[in-house]
Amino acid sequence: MLVLGFESSCDETGVALVEVPAAGAPQLRAQALHSQIRMHQAYGGVVPELASRDHIRRVLPLTREVLSQAQVALSDIDVIAYTQGPGLAGALLVGAGVAVAMAAALDKPTVGVHHLEGHLLSPFLSVDPPEFPFVALLVSGGHTQLMRVDDVGQYQMLGETIDDAAGEAFDKSAKLLGLPYPGGPHLAQLAEQGDPTAFDLPRPMLKSGKPDFSFAGLKTAVLTQVKRLGEVPTEQQKADLAASTQAAIVELLLRKSLLALKETGLKRLVVAGGVGANRHLREQLNAACAKRQIRVHYPELSLCTDNGAMIAMAAAMRLQRGMASLRPGAGFEVRPRWTLGAA
Ligand code: ATP
Ligand code: MG
Ligand code: FE
Repeated sequence: MLVLGFESSCDETGVALVEVPAAGAPQLRAQALHSQIRMHQAYGGVVPELASRDHIRRVLPLTREVLSQAQVALSDIDVIAYTQGPGLAGALLVGAGVAVAMAAALDKPTVGVHHLEGHLLSPFLSVDPPEFPFVALLVSGGHTQLMRVDDVGQYQMLGETIDDAAGEAFDKSAKLLGLPYPGGPHLAQLAEQGDPTAFDLPRPMLKSGKPDFSFAGLKTAVLTQVKRLGEVPTEQQKADLAASTQAAIVELLLRKSLLALKETGLKRLVVAGGVGANRHLREQLNAACAKRQIRVHYPELSLCTDNGAMIAMAAAMRLQRGMASLRPGAGFEVRPRWTLGAA
């Protein structure tokens, strides 16, 4: 069975083809991605209307690219998956509209996928896929959650952020340091030359005793330091502040993940979402988990941020478990606000 997947929830247009064998793990056959980052950079963030329009421009050429890479005809596709939510409504509608129209023309079923389930299951596309059950640390631009995952669709929230997401904390701090959007990777790069102990930044809720997060206070502390440094901070001062900020975010993610692992007694951690690409986070988690005989799994670096492969994969795993309808002709509805685990 061949599943074509579309991702268009924010500023990446992703298309991918996953093959679902009769038995065994689904395999990625081909994928194509277009990031709109450069287009939005001039505005310092994602402009929803521009995002929707660009998805419209990109989605069919990317689909042709995927089909030609895999040497597959459109008529060979069995199921069409798309990101149903959460995300920008107009952006979601592009992927959903294309998926449903294509499915109608081909008389094939569609599967609406939860974007965060896509992130969560993206490590199953890696060479060393995890096994259920596990604790998931979902760290993206819009979410920071720790979950107990017993199988596809079986998610128990252990804790989440009460304000900003970890990716937002990276991005907002980076903006304060004058770095381009999205600042996470830029801040991480600048941090390589910095001293993580140079600035004493707060670790909000580190000792709350619960696997929940707060990052808003950290951003305010970074702002205070930026103001203190004055108009023209030196490159070294900026690098030191970047390294100190990254250290604070990573320490919070690390401590709370260990707490969730301890609470559940599970010996497996899965990290997913854009911040999961952070090298310092990976090093810290790897070291701490190795000491505790805990296995850690990540998506491939290129699959940490939004992509079509994770959407096709999530649909494939649902189909293998009989959790998605194979009846063609479904209507569609996007769900810009949608909690993972909610019906
Ligand atoms: P969501 O999935 O919650 O809807 P999103 O799709 O915007 O949000 P992702 O695409 O998963 O989020 O991740 C983007 C985020 O990851 C951005 O905040 C970006 O700065 C951050 N990010 C990417 N690479 C790194 C890195 N190396 N270090 C830190 N942050 C990073
Ligand atoms: Mg993005
Ligand atoms: Fe995402």
